[in-house]
Amino acid sequence: MFYKKTQEEQSDFIERNIRCNDASLEDKQLTFVLTGRRVCEYAWRIVYGIKRRRYYYMKKKCRSTNEDLDNSDKRCSQQYKSRQYLEAKSFVTDLCKRYGDDQPDILEIHLPSCLSILQVWTDYKSSCENLGSPYLSYQRFYGMWIEEFPHVKIPKYQKLSKCNECVIFKETISKKLTKIDLGELKDKRRAHLLLQEICREKYYKHIKKSKEHPSMYTSVIIDNMDQFKTNLPRFPLHFKNETTLEKMHHHVTGVLCHGLNKAYTFTWTDQFSSDCNITLNCLMSVLGDVATENGGLPPTLYIQADNSPKDNKNKYVIMFLVMLVKMEIVKKIKLTFLMASHTHEDVDQLFSRISVKASKEKTTIIPSLLDLIKRSYTPQPIAKHVESLYDFRDQMAYPSSLAGIKSQHVFKLTKDGDKVFLAMKEWPLESAPYKILELTNILQNLNMPRKVEPNMEKIGGIIQLMRRDLPKWVQNGKLNREDEL
Ligand SMILES: [Zn+2]
Repeated sequence: MFYKKTQEEQSDFIERNIRCNDASLEDKQLTFVLTGRRVCEYAWRIVYGIKRRRYYYMKKKCRSTNEDLDNSDKRCSQQYKSRQYLEAKSFVTDLCKRYGDDQPDILEIHLPSCLSILQVWTDYKSSCENLGSPYLSYQRFYGMWIEEFPHVKIPKYQKLSKCNECVIFKETISKKLTKIDLGELKDKRRAHLLLQEICREKYYKHIKKSKEHPSMYTSVIIDNMDQFKTNLPRFPLHFKNETTLEKMHHHVTGVLCHGLNKAYTFTWTDQFSSDCNITLNCLMSVLGDVATENGGLPPTLYIQADNSPKDNKNKYVIMFLVMLVKMEIVKKIKLTFLMASHTHEDVDQLFSRISVKASKEKTTIIPSLLDLIKRSYTPQPIAKHVESLYDFRDQMAYPSSLAGIKSQHVFKLTKDGDKVFLAMKEWPLESAPYKILELTNILQNLNMPRKVEPNMEKIGGIIQLMRRDLPKWVQNGKLNREDEL
């Protein structure tokens, strides 16, 4: 429907509908026909999910072109896109590629909160001035943004996790500063954004290598989705009295494997605690699939993960990777992390698709959740429900911690002779030296790990509460006797 249309088709659609209100489009409420009924502009806008400022921009645009165009010339109703306009558009497109965060729950791209449209325009203007080319005025730039990038937002605050530096830049930049201080601050901001861009570029380079040479490189990204989107049971409409009803948390861990162009999702419940065992078991399952598809694992493995010390950035994960290298399952592993709070990547698109679908459908049981996941994303995800886990955490128990890994973002594991080395550095800058540790003997035990003991007590408690709430769901007409069984 509307959301399947391209940006241009959407604008066209809105404009055509506005123009059906033939009159002079004065500042009055317009009406629209919706499934045979006439509705007010607010209702129409909500049904199609058209954002307020986009709608009013289009309305204003229709009015102004009405005023000054010769009615016989249809072509003029479309604003002519000048070279400046297209250049400004490509400036913002580029900005989104470099700094934009895909959102895990909605189909939006967010730019760092330390920017503003005015600041983007200032940067755009000075880049044009440097090239000696003409540029759009701020008003036209703003209009272009609303028209072409209604899905690109600069949030006042970063929604998920805040980047301290971005917050400081935003707060300080709005204060009255001397020209020198402002210049310094802008330089710092530029350096900060550049650094996060370099981290991303590295990641994209790994993706590209594995796509071009899938038998040489594997590139995966792994992350966890916000569980509240996939708690079961789930219904498209909520009654007020339902918020307190017990639901089973269903966590979703997602993995994208770039070389094979495959997506994997692993759902799991609170019978397992959220820690590196999940990460490592999911990773192992994906690597198993890569080996089958590929006839063996490619020698180099790139892993992109989230900075969470609980799930990913800890000694157990490093030790697991040491094991892979020590046993020559792969030759080299590079585990990289993006800058904290600037970490939204392709895997978040997978999560946002799942979450959009999950908000529209009734989902009560695991098979229907898996089915929903499979229908939500292209390529179709391989969806598994995790029933048991190997306890790598227990097996990798190691008396001391690996010092100083928290602040590092690049970890490289290689084997030289019999020895396994971990090289790490804070940022993926060519000039920065690696800090090197020998970890050959960190592993005490290479036997088959035990299975994790599921926390049945917790699950049992939840199930009991869910049983208690069943009649209420039935009462609200959400579940029938069949579902109850
Ligand atoms: Zn930041």
